[in-house]
Amino acid sequence: MNVHDSEIYAGLLDEMGYQEATDPQDADVILVNTCSVRERGEDKLFSQLGRLRGLKDGPSAHTPLIGVTGCIAQQRGSEIVEREGSVDFVIGTRAIHALPDVLRRAQEGEGSQVLTDDLVEFEAPTAKRQDHVKAFVTIMEGCNNYCSFCIVPTTRGLEIYRSAEAILDEIRGLSIRGYREITLLGQNVNSWLDPETGMGFAGLLEAIDRLLASDAAPGGIARVRFLTSHPKDLSPELINVMGRCTSVARHLHLPVQSGSDRVLQQMNRHYTQGSYLEQVEQLRRTIPGVGLSTDLIVGFPGETDDDFRATMELVERVEYDSFYSFEYSPRPDTAATLYDDDVAPKIKRERLIELQALGDSIQKRHNAAWVGRRAEVLVDGPSKRTPDDVAGRTSSNHIVNLRGGLELTGHLVDVDITSSGGHSLVGRAVSPPR
Ligand code: SAM
Ligand code: SF4
Repeated sequence: MNVHDSEIYAGLLDEMGYQEATDPQDADVILVNTCSVRERGEDKLFSQLGRLRGLKDGPSAHTPLIGVTGCIAQQRGSEIVEREGSVDFVIGTRAIHALPDVLRRAQEGEGSQVLTDDLVEFEAPTAKRQDHVKAFVTIMEGCNNYCSFCIVPTTRGLEIYRSAEAILDEIRGLSIRGYREITLLGQNVNSWLDPETGMGFAGLLEAIDRLLASDAAPGGIARVRFLTSHPKDLSPELINVMGRCTSVARHLHLPVQSGSDRVLQQMNRHYTQGSYLEQVEQLRRTIPGVGLSTDLIVGFPGETDDDFRATMELVERVEYDSFYSFEYSPRPDTAATLYDDDVAPKIKRERLIELQALGDSIQKRHNAAWVGRRAEVLVDGPSKRTPDDVAGRTSSNHIVNLRGGLELTGHLVDVDITSSGGHSLVGRAVSPPR
């Protein structure tokens, strides 16, 4: 979501006639787009601002305007300007479109500006996307869930939904422009509702699938992904629709956070290990070969060794293809700050290392099982492993490296998997690109 917000800011700057600078020293405007999900983001912001201050204090005649945007901007507002005098403006998550006005006023010499009003407009000026194969499409803003550890409802506000018509229009345009994959974005996409007709997310996926199969969206979107799904809102109907829609990728990111029912309750997540495992079973039954990934938190307040074992047990039972895992980090204005952050940092670290080692061994085993199989890969650019090769992803979201030049980028190819590593697969193209 932050990456896409940066693309929207880049689009706004582009429309105003700015070009991308290669070095902060040459920039007229510097925006620092921030994340506040964990405390580390805030620490990074202030050390980055400290470095940028040098550009204003230095001998150079060229003094950039410095702005802070994103979740920390929304949450801290004027505190940022008070703490770091080099900041000219602060724009919160729901006021992105104010950038042109804010910049104009800053150029006219107005002092520091702080804009954290709620001015959500979905019909953004065209985002300036860095990637020409895969595009993000926002379908909603905000979150109504108040998971007790999470700052997002405070920094991004309550849910607001973009209309199906506007979403389908953007997707049609992206397909005509040659994009091959889209990711629908929202904090909890499963709770999306069309503000005009009341249609739910499963209906939206079907409408997108119909659009992409029709002549109305010629070109190329071959895959639709979405982020993020909340288990409490993942309905059996949605799983069936995922199985039926040929354009919907066979992958689901389904954050579980913990395997302990007691911790899940304290996190205010509204599901249990048992109900989650039933969903996993339905997913695997309905969507053969579905890739599964998740988010996990260790060291939530009061997490005992038994609670952590329940998380390990869940991970072993689901056998995720990959996951993100984090040490719990207390965030201001969240319900979990009422609990004592009583898991010692050393224990949090040890649990994280143990969990990640389990994840690595499962991933290695899964990847090895791919050898000898054939998969359709969407090539998205150069390989990170060997710069002369290219890489892409399977529908199930596995990374595959293969021999071939950059002209394969943006094409689907059938690939025979020949070997596997810890985090990716290696294969050989066996079909012409399409
Ligand atoms: N909306 C998504 C969901 O329902 O799971 C997640 C959005 S959150 C921005 C991304 C991930 O950050 C979460 O799934 C969680 O694992 C992690 N996270 C959020 N707050 C955290 C905290 N206070 N400490 C550690 N990790 C946190
Ligand atoms: Fe945060 Fe929970 Fe909303 Fe996800 S669903 S953004 S974790 S409050």
